[in-house]
Amino acid sequence: METDVIIIGAGASGLSAAKELTRLGLSFTVVEGSHRIGGRAYSEEIAPGVWFDLGCSYLSQGETNPFVAIADELGVVLGKDRGDLFEDSNIRLHKNGVPLSSIESEAYTAYLSECDAAVTAAADRGEDIAIVDLVDIDSEFATIFMHSMADYCTRDIDEVSSVDFANTDKGSDIPVLNGYGNLVAAWGSDVTVSLNTKVARIDWSGVGVSVETSRGALRGRAVLCTVSTGILAAGEIEFVPALPDWKMEAVLGLPTGTENKICLHFDRDVFGPDGRGFHYTWNDEGLAGGFEASVMGLNTAVAFTGGRFAVWLEKQGQQAGHEYAVDRVAEVFGNDIRKHVTRSIVTAWTTEPWTRGSYSCALPGQAHQRTELARVLGDRLFFAGEATTIHDYAFCHGAYRSGIRAAQEISQTLAS
Ligand SMILES: Cc1cc2nc3c(=O)[nH]c(=O)nc-3n(C[C@H](O)[C@H](O)[C@H](O)COP(=O)(O)OP(=O)(O)OC[C@H]3O[C@@H](n4cnc5c(N)ncnc54)[C@H](O)[C@@H]3O)c2cc1C
Repeated sequence: METDVIIIGAGASGLSAAKELTRLGLSFTVVEGSHRIGGRAYSEEIAPGVWFDLGCSYLSQGETNPFVAIADELGVVLGKDRGDLFEDSNIRLHKNGVPLSSIESEAYTAYLSECDAAVTAAADRGEDIAIVDLVDIDSEFATIFMHSMADYCTRDIDEVSSVDFANTDKGSDIPVLNGYGNLVAAWGSDVTVSLNTKVARIDWSGVGVSVETSRGALRGRAVLCTVSTGILAAGEIEFVPALPDWKMEAVLGLPTGTENKICLHFDRDVFGPDGRGFHYTWNDEGLAGGFEASVMGLNTAVAFTGGRFAVWLEKQGQQAGHEYAVDRVAEVFGNDIRKHVTRSIVTAWTTEPWTRGSYSCALPGQAHQRTELARVLGDRLFFAGEATTIHDYAFCHGAYRSGIRAAQEISQTLAS
């Protein structure tokens, strides 16, 4: 046995597992297929000193999020006072380019509360059904509700489990000035990782495990697989023996969906102090959009798309994504903003080869599969990653917690 544990993937879950195994005194090797650590936590510089997160950007559930303390320790600047910009009552709404009146905005907030209450009540009754069957889709606000839910859940509401949605703990969303991806990379930089090492096969048929990678074979007492359900569903890794049916049902019940982002950088502040925050806009043509504007005081806007529309837009290419975002921002701030756009970055998570999607979404009737996905096989094949958590799936800190949970399970199992 060359090592106790082979960790596959150096995203938040693989990195936190490595740190916890170190604390518990076990040896490990982390293998990462791509050229960098962080996985779906990844920041790029859109303009000198201006960072954009292609994946996670908010420290969600900010009141309990472990990355808040990590950021404080590392001296990373957080927008702790900006979390309330994303609260329903602070989101700015515009229809056909006209801001909604305060009475209309209150009606929208009331509609959201009704939707939320209907989903929670169904979950309390144990009804794991599609959200679309619980809400009023004839409401004048349904267009924007469905758009925002598709962004948040990565799938349209006919494909989202009521119980899974109700299981998510709520809280504030804290932005990070210089990127959540950079925060995760700085925090994970003390973990030794073998980069550019793609795992092709995991043999767990005998005693211990053998892992075949693009840079040779590894032997360990156990393996921790942290790759996304998109990667598992696509069969990117061959398991010998094959994963049992119940495990594959868990993988397929928690598919990755699509949330994409389009970041626009402007050559000046086109929003003004009053324009900062989150905006939703929709028009009579049925086009809807949500974007954050200069949340941390930068000259950027980030538009979000989700579900089938996001998949369709991604297929149209980068220019189409760019134009979609510019049109939405222009609808709210006027056509003059168009000439101030200097650059854009358009994500394409559906086709991203290391994730094959943005993050997991439980299909109707499948919320229980998160527990099954996390379940160990043969005392040597362990699973972690955002999809394996119940109350903080889809979140970076959920991935972090899942790595710690799995490392502790491994330690107990190998000791027994
Ligand atoms: C658009 C978008 C917006 C988001 N917004 C937020 C947000 O605001 N707040 C929040 O908390 N979360 C957000 N998230 C979710 C968050 O980024 C993820 O939940 C979290 O980063 C997942 O971490 P992980 O360790 O589970 O998986 P990953 O980060 O995917 O790590 C798995 C690693 O495995 C590697 N890998 C894959 N296949 C192989 C292979 N065959 N061999 C070796 N290595 C392999 C991958 O390269 C990857 O590095 C967002 C995600 C996206 C995509």
